[in-house]
Amino acid sequence: MKHSELTFQAIVEATPNAIILVNKEGKIAYANHQTEKLFGFNRIELISQKVEILIPQRHHEHHPDFRTQFFKSPETRAMGSGRELFAMRKDKSEFPVEIGLNPLVTLEGTMVLVSIIDITTRKKAEERFRLVVESAPNAMILANKDGEITLINAQTEKLFGYQRNELIGSKLEILIPKKFSGNHPHLRESFFHSPSVRSMGAGRDLFAVRKDGTQFPVEIGLNPIETDQGTVVLASVIDITARKRHEAMSALELKNKELEQFNYIASHDLQEPLRTVSNYVQILEEDFSGQLNQEAKNYLNTISRATLRMSMLVRTLLEFSRLGQNKKMVSLDCNTIVKNVVTDLNSLIKETKTTILIEDLPTLYAYETELMQLFLNLINNAIKFRKKDQLSEIRIGCRNNSNGHFEFYVADNGIGIEPKYFARIFQIFQRLNTSQEEEGYGIGLANCKKIVEMHGGKIWVESELGKGSTFKFTIETV
Ligand code: ADP
Repeated sequence: MKHSELTFQAIVEATPNAIILVNKEGKIAYANHQTEKLFGFNRIELISQKVEILIPQRHHEHHPDFRTQFFKSPETRAMGSGRELFAMRKDKSEFPVEIGLNPLVTLEGTMVLVSIIDITTRKKAEERFRLVVESAPNAMILANKDGEITLINAQTEKLFGYQRNELIGSKLEILIPKKFSGNHPHLRESFFHSPSVRSMGAGRDLFAVRKDGTQFPVEIGLNPIETDQGTVVLASVIDITARKRHEAMSALELKNKELEQFNYIASHDLQEPLRTVSNYVQILEEDFSGQLNQEAKNYLNTISRATLRMSMLVRTLLEFSRLGQNKKMVSLDCNTIVKNVVTDLNSLIKETKTTILIEDLPTLYAYETELMQLFLNLINNAIKFRKKDQLSEIRIGCRNNSNGHFEFYVADNGIGIEPKYFARIFQIFQRLNTSQEEEGYGIGLANCKKIVEMHGGKIWVESELGKGSTFKFTIETV
């Protein structure tokens, strides 16, 4: 053998990959030591055999065509781009491979030098990685430097409403609201410039967008991963809608508590000077009436009405802050409670020609006065906010929902409430129809909320403007 041939052979023998030389007819002309090790054949068994001896049976049919194609325009390239390739050992067991093809001009014509790499370990690692990603409780998204999504898990499909094949190959920006997506490529570039494990958007509120266009707040963690194809990023996305809502609720509850405490102190302290003012007004009206002209009497009248209104306000406030204090729960038949309330409101009901339909109601453990006040406020509101051009009808009922709660409703056909006010009306001193002549301080529903919460329940409203409102509340069935 010539020196150059010897050198070539030495190199081929020393490489860690299996290397074989195949001629135009598909016969193996040479195989290195690594090929013997990888396939379990002795070199002698391979030389002059068709290369198909190393290929699983199911690929035999098409392989000669591929070979003819290669020899038509021989160039160095990877085999089977995009397809998964498998090789077969002497014992017929298969394993995944990566194959490189290199044309080689020899004295016996053009041949192909084939290098074969066993990628079993890599495939296993990839599979393990895929499984870990798949089973993660968060949405996990793998993307490359160009922002193309290469892998997602089932949680991502669930959270964003896309099918897997709709996302793979798409740009990450598809999941980001338009308002923010413009700047995202720039942010991505700076991430890949100095990749590190970190959470995204420090200090900013992050939002994601679903396929149907709805947006939701998210928390995003970024993990750079080194791969053969360069650095990629694994993003884990958590929907924090519930957490945000909870935070907002807690803040509101705290505010309500502080307000209640203030109410108690303020209303208590206000009562005394108010009483003094009332007393002196009374003295003026009774003892000095003769010395006062009409104008002064009118002023006194105004003062007297204002004090009366103020003392009512103060009393309501006091009642609100005293709700449920030093009371005991008793077994109560709600039918009786509601009947008593309706009797109390009898003249108003008659005057407004309101119809009240009451379904059979349960017996439960509750605070009696509070429960009465709850129904009183809701029925009173239903009448107060009726449509003036239509007879009002109120329906009251209850169903035993399976999770340990009774769910009551008080439904009216009144003026209704815009959805944006659904939460606000349950806060103290919040009124919507201030232009209307109805009396009120915006305390009724705050009271209702407090009463319902004392009973381990929740209160909310379902309503459409102009169509009527249904107030619903739950009470624990203990
Ligand atoms: P008030 O009745 O003293 O104004 P509430 O706390 O009872 O205070 O109610 C707050 C606001 O909610 C009311 O001012 C009204 O705008 C709205 N509201 C309550 N109940 C109804 C109802 N049944 N239909 C329409 N609007 C209602």
